[in-house]
Amino acid sequence: MAQETWPAPEALRSANGRPSTQDAEALISRRLAAMSLAAKIGQMVQGEIANVRPEDVREHGLGSVLNGGGSWPNGDKRASVADWRGLANAYRAASVASESGIPILWGTDAVHGHNNVFGATVFPHNIGLGAAGDAALIEAIAAATATEVAATGIDWTFAPTLAVVRDDRWGRTYESYSEDPAIVRDFATRMVRGLQGTDGEPGPNKVLATAKHFIGDGGTSGVDQGDTACSETQLRDLHGPGHVAALAAGVQVVMASFSSWNGVKLHGHRYLLTDVLKGRLGFDGFVISDWNGCQQLAEAPREACALAVNAGVDMVMVDERWRETLADLIASVEAGEVPMARVDDAVRRILRVKARAGLLTEGPLPAKAASPLAPAAHRALARRAVRQSLVLLKNNAGLLPLRRNVNVLVAGSHADDVGLQCGGWTLTWQGDGNANEDFPQGESILAGIREAVAAGGGSVTFRADGAVDETPDVAIVVFGEPPYAEGEGDRPHLAYSAFHPEPLAVMRSLKAKGVPVVAVFVAGRPMWTNPELNAADAFLVAWLPGTEGGGVADVLFRASDGTVNHDLAGKLSFSWPRDPWQTAVNVGDEPYEPLFPYGFGRRYADGPTTLPQLPEDPSRPVTNELRPPHSQGSGS
Ligand code: BGC
Ligand code: BGC
Repeated sequence: MAQETWPAPEALRSANGRPSTQDAEALISRRLAAMSLAAKIGQMVQGEIANVRPEDVREHGLGSVLNGGGSWPNGDKRASVADWRGLANAYRAASVASESGIPILWGTDAVHGHNNVFGATVFPHNIGLGAAGDAALIEAIAAATATEVAATGIDWTFAPTLAVVRDDRWGRTYESYSEDPAIVRDFATRMVRGLQGTDGEPGPNKVLATAKHFIGDGGTSGVDQGDTACSETQLRDLHGPGHVAALAAGVQVVMASFSSWNGVKLHGHRYLLTDVLKGRLGFDGFVISDWNGCQQLAEAPREACALAVNAGVDMVMVDERWRETLADLIASVEAGEVPMARVDDAVRRILRVKARAGLLTEGPLPAKAASPLAPAAHRALARRAVRQSLVLLKNNAGLLPLRRNVNVLVAGSHADDVGLQCGGWTLTWQGDGNANEDFPQGESILAGIREAVAAGGGSVTFRADGAVDETPDVAIVVFGEPPYAEGEGDRPHLAYSAFHPEPLAVMRSLKAKGVPVVAVFVAGRPMWTNPELNAADAFLVAWLPGTEGGGVADVLFRASDGTVNHDLAGKLSFSWPRDPWQTAVNVGDEPYEPLFPYGFGRRYADGPTTLPQLPEDPSRPVTNELRPPHSQGSGS
């Protein structure tokens, strides 16, 4: 095995990532010495709330629960803050009443705001934040997210995702800030600080953060859970900087990646999890597996779990099989397949994180503040983030910004649908099945346009299919990708209209009538949209903006006095493809020939520019077949 030089722990240890004190370690040693094997193994298992009742926690002393994507208290999508807090308190009380008395941790995927919870502020997905490129904004979003997570009684989020995505066919591209490790590095620091606080010890409005997915998740050639084939130097320099920055900022948990490095699954990668992460990088928190990730290591569940724990996984995230996992791990220890020293190290790490979160202190546990979800300040922050994330690719004849006193036709499937604006990891795992009524706190892009135009004396007609009797002054066509998450979002190529021909037809028919067309593209990644770029006079990329759709109109329309209301601020943090097969074009490549380079984004202040007609020939035939999930990926 190659032995690359990784940054030394001393170089990482900022004020935030401070080492555990002797007192804290002594306290942990005392707790550890008093624990039975069953109690220790209990700490190492994380079950899912749909399968774990509070009485199970009391009986088995589970160290943690999670709610997976689209899992809510009582299976109720509209569960209230009181429902979430009630369940959190029940788990907490049960854990304190267990044999070891050690409080439980509840983890959730709050990956763009507290997105599993009805009524929470949903911020733009990471790709939009990468385009906004404002590190202070990221930290403010992280802090707002932490407040909303804490308000539901939850301790911990599985964020930030630090993937440096190199091939945009991957369905998790939108979870990545950038193809550029420097952006991911800078944002990792601010995200961890905003979530956990600057002293690495979460206070009442802070939660634990997770650096995920360690390491190389963005290098799998567009295949979910695939293989990242590269040298150790490339792994460190391309996929590592975000993780190293998160560690320096004191991130308490690291999640192992479903992906492999040169054919070896990360969940079983002792060299990377133990020698590099815990050894050379000095990480003293705990490593959690991904969802059933250990089970991918071997056919036999017991063997698979033992392999992962021996490689360095400290806490095992499982679905309904938590009882079997407890029994398997106990049997493995008793049979000598997992050394007791490894168990003690894993539990020490889990207790250390709990101690830093203030859970091991004597006396009553710190109460999380019961603040409301989506307060005005968070909504304003989200709206600002939307404005700043928008990237303008085309603005021929200076069509934008529009005056407010015009007759506007709004068309397109994504114009009046907050669920589509939010994308995957929103109320449900894949982000499907959501309606505007699921977002009473949210505003669609159409609603924002209506507000802006009403304030200026114009009129808005909405026809999703774009058909109108009277010719409008201008049409805004809001279209994009359907929601998707892991696996489901993988594509064989990047030609948008091969999958979704309708918006192009709408734009072409409007253009044929002489109506100026503004295209607003709601998508989780750059796509080959040359036909749509040609059919539109102006083309704005909105990414997956979240619940504050009004931020789009803030930029599309002038102020009432005719001056620019908000200029564009967004710049591409991902290169834009020249053809459907240019799926892995990244800044720094030689040669580097994207359609729009990394950093591209027009400003109103730059004055009028003209984008000439682009070639519409996809160079090779494109199909509309969606790639099946995990097509070349994991064995599971
Ligand atoms: C994903 C993780 C996520 C976990 C829990 C996994 O399938 O890869 O990113 O945190 O599920 O929902
Ligand atoms: C869960 C997700 C999880 C996924 C993994 C889903 O059922 O809701 O949280 O990431 O399974 O396959």
